[in-house]
Amino acid sequence: MSYYRCICRKCGSNYASMIDNDIELQKESCPGCGEKQLQISEPLTSSEINKLFYGGG
Ligand SMILES: [Zn+2]
Repeated sequence: MSYYRCICRKCGSNYASMIDNDIELQKESCPGCGEKQLQISEPLTSSEINKLFYGGG
């Protein structure tokens, strides 16, 4: 199972997502601001996933 970084174009927040295509991601709302303006970036490494999931910054 791999995770990707997704970035909200509205508020700039970074999230980990299992979604790997833009069409599916368009259906997802930003957990921070609620806007459906998420964008997929690069695949996450395991250490990056830990940061995003456990609040390392
Ligand atoms: Zn947002």
